[in-house]
Amino acid sequence: MEVFMHHCHHKLPSLLSRTLFKASKKSYIYCTIHTSPSVSAVSKPVIPPALVSRLFLPSNLREGQEGGDLTCRSQRLMLQTGLIHPSNPGCFYYLPVALRSMEKLVRLIDEEMWAIGGQKVDMPALCSAELWKKSGRWELMGKEMFRLLDRHNAEYCLGPTHEEAVTELFASQTMISYKKLPLLLYQVTRKFRDEQKPKFGLLRGREFYMKDMYSFDINEEAALHTYHSVCQAYGRIFDRLGLKWVQVQAATGNIGGTLSHEFQLPADIGEDQLLVCGNCGFSANIETIDPGQTECSMCQTGTLTESKGIEVGHTFYLGTKYSETFKALFVKASNVPAVAEMGCFGLGVTRILAASIEVMSSEDAIHWPGLIAPYQVCVLPPKKGSKAHEVTSMADELAQSLGNSLPNLRGEVVLDDRMQMTIGKRLKDAKILGYPYVVVIGQKALEDLPLFEYVGEFCHFNSHTNGIRTCLSDQLVAVMR
Ligand SMILES: [Zn+2]
Repeated sequence: MEVFMHHCHHKLPSLLSRTLFKASKKSYIYCTIHTSPSVSAVSKPVIPPALVSRLFLPSNLREGQEGGDLTCRSQRLMLQTGLIHPSNPGCFYYLPVALRSMEKLVRLIDEEMWAIGGQKVDMPALCSAELWKKSGRWELMGKEMFRLLDRHNAEYCLGPTHEEAVTELFASQTMISYKKLPLLLYQVTRKFRDEQKPKFGLLRGREFYMKDMYSFDINEEAALHTYHSVCQAYGRIFDRLGLKWVQVQAATGNIGGTLSHEFQLPADIGEDQLLVCGNCGFSANIETIDPGQTECSMCQTGTLTESKGIEVGHTFYLGTKYSETFKALFVKASNVPAVAEMGCFGLGVTRILAASIEVMSSEDAIHWPGLIAPYQVCVLPPKKGSKAHEVTSMADELAQSLGNSLPNLRGEVVLDDRMQMTIGKRLKDAKILGYPYVVVIGQKALEDLPLFEYVGEFCHFNSHTNGIRTCLSDQLVAVMR
């Protein structure tokens, strides 16, 4: 890259406007052919840019597939752009581009869970009825639980949540020392719920991905400390995604326990009714408030106003509800066994993905949280037969180089090689899919100092993604000089 430093004439102006950059055709080509990879990169394979003509992005918005009245913006956009494909009611194929985004979201969640000491596990989805009968929830869960029989006529369910399983796992370990606590075990797995009326695409499906974490502590004080640290981690996840969120007092439902919060994204299509105090910010799910109550119980002066939200996270302080039943014991410092205090914490992974699209996008174009955009950069070569056609190789080289020599953009580049289409048409598609950065190689690339058009307006940025934005744009400029 050093070769280009003396060609630097331009600083990067605001990303919200279209900008032209100068690049030397000669030295650019020199760069992409002769860039020596660093030693650490030698062992890694070259990742070619993803070609739009080859991407498995089927358009699914045909008559009758929109889901009728039960559709919403995110479902429509995800079907239209080929991110998902409908299967049985409430079930979807997650297609390659959507899966990239989901895996980024999982990595982000992993980071925040590791930061508070979480350890990732993976528990069986097939759960024995015995466990659920022991906790009394086999009956309680009702019709929402998928139940099945094995060949020996033993009853099972497809796990909608894993309090029983994880508590039994803990209880099966004898003599766990107090020194091992708090223990925070979590998983990101497929969960099942037999919704009566699946709707809104990934927002209310019958199969979905959830991150569920379970905590074991030595006493109530320690358990509440863990509870608050998980809530803080959840807040950081939503902040880093650039989402507006609210933490509300919630009912404990069939999970149980004594303290519970929901994390809600305010949205018109939200199915949860919330009450928010205009004075102190206290918020609650309407289920937890006495009917007719309009005065805030927290500050005593504010008025509660209604709003709607999409529930994306739920936390519970369980106390010893499960650990008592399953004899989940640890050994205290005094060498005496004691029952562990528990908490459980859920995040709807596929729901966060769809809800981000729901609340950030416009009616006709997806806006991603910058951190989980499926690809960061889209490069548009000139139209076939146009004057600029001869600089097509420049676009190929640029896409190849961006996606391999820069750590933050490794494997993150798409080349829209549908060159029979005009730039304008492809730019429109790029906008619908919401690539954060689009680089257009058009007529100006023919000049002695070639100009690339750089469009960076199709993404939601906030203070938390600005660091990444700056980093990426610095790198883009470094290559294009
Ligand atoms: Zn208040």
